[in-house]
Amino acid sequence: MEKIKMTTPLVEMDGDEMTRILWKMIKDELICPYVELNTEYYDLGLENRNATDDKVTFESAEATKKYGVAVKCATITPNAARMTEYNLKEMWKSPNGTIRAILDGTVFRAPIIVKGIEPCVRNWKKPITLARHAYGDVYKATEMKVSGKGKAEIVFTDENGNETRELIHEFKGPGVLQGQHNLEGSIESFAKSCFEYALSTKQDLWFATKDTISKKYDHTFKDIFNEIFENEYKDKFEAAGITYFYTLIDDAVARVMKSEGGYIWACKNYDGDVMSDMVSSAFGSLAMMTSVLVSPQGYYEYEAAHGTVQRHYYKHLKGEETSTNSVATIFAWSGALRKRGELDSNEALVKYADNLEKATIATIESGKMTKDLALITSIDNPTVLNSEGFIKAIREELDKLN
Ligand code: NAP
Ligand code: MG
Repeated sequence: MEKIKMTTPLVEMDGDEMTRILWKMIKDELICPYVELNTEYYDLGLENRNATDDKVTFESAEATKKYGVAVKCATITPNAARMTEYNLKEMWKSPNGTIRAILDGTVFRAPIIVKGIEPCVRNWKKPITLARHAYGDVYKATEMKVSGKGKAEIVFTDENGNETRELIHEFKGPGVLQGQHNLEGSIESFAKSCFEYALSTKQDLWFATKDTISKKYDHTFKDIFNEIFENEYKDKFEAAGITYFYTLIDDAVARVMKSEGGYIWACKNYDGDVMSDMVSSAFGSLAMMTSVLVSPQGYYEYEAAHGTVQRHYYKHLKGEETSTNSVATIFAWSGALRKRGELDSNEALVKYADNLEKATIATIESGKMTKDLALITSIDNPTVLNSEGFIKAIREELDKLN
């Protein structure tokens, strides 16, 4: 069989620990036999980040701007323990944070649905993709404890020294205060990323805030989304047969629970923090959750939502067998290769990406899976495979499709 050619390189960001081991297995077994893989490789493993003073992370993000599509392996975010373990020069920042800041992107998380791993919510049939605004609000708030009687105000001083004041509260006794902010530019980027991703995946977009109560703050979010939609995306959405839907956050929560899924749910920072944990745990497993960073300019970086699976890696180092789930990492690759194929009009590559996903799902639905899934599946007597065995089983299914 002739291998599929790639005209434009994909930005490849290698990572750490168990996911780095899976990374190589996936490439060797599931990709390179079928695709003449053309990547620009960046080693974001912690050793190389340390050796390059983290320059490699910045370079990989710049390369993503150049080529448009990246695939990333999970990476260690250093803490005190990692400083000693890897003998680090500095406590390097989270690569995901660095890349997100450079691309000004929004992270979309979606579960991978297979028969046999049923969501807790019975009526959820299709994935719910959660988009969380990752700037400001309570995460960048200033807080104060009020000791007793007194007046609290918000004061804004402009460049010329002019003050604008709003009364918060006349305190009769002790209490608490909080000052939040957000930026129009950040909300605009968030909105554009959401509209772009909805178009790219042909899914409806839902957005919700509490604008009836928060008539200036939340209402600004609503207005910015609405304005960008009306001016830039309305026609494109109509042509794609998808809709943009705004409602109140409590109404959205009620509708989500009763829905079939199959849409993108955009949330403000706090709502997204809380709801992404609810949605992902209700769908079953972190190991079955994909994640894609989308910039307002339409650059894409695909990865798994889970970390480097450190505990499994230490077993692996001791020569013990592991049964680590590679599904989310495989879907990071298929997502990136499909996007690359779409941008380059490379139909063979798009079809290969579809087949890789089909083969992965078929493997699990035939009862062959890793231990984490075997513990929660509704399939009787599943076959539990080790990390390598599972990938080899997917290869057998993939060969049937190619
Ligand atoms: P983790 O790697 O997500 O793993 C937590 C636990 O979840 C594992 O110990 C394992 O449970 C289970 N698990 C996660 N993924 C699995 C998979 N693919 N297959 C089977 N089981 C899986 O989180 P962590 O242990 O808290 O973090 C480890 C490192 O990852 C940290 O250094 C952190 O900084 C980094 N991290 C990176 C990213 C990223 O790059 N996007 C995200 C999160 C964390 P059992 O041990 O019970 O089997
Ligand atoms: Mg959280």
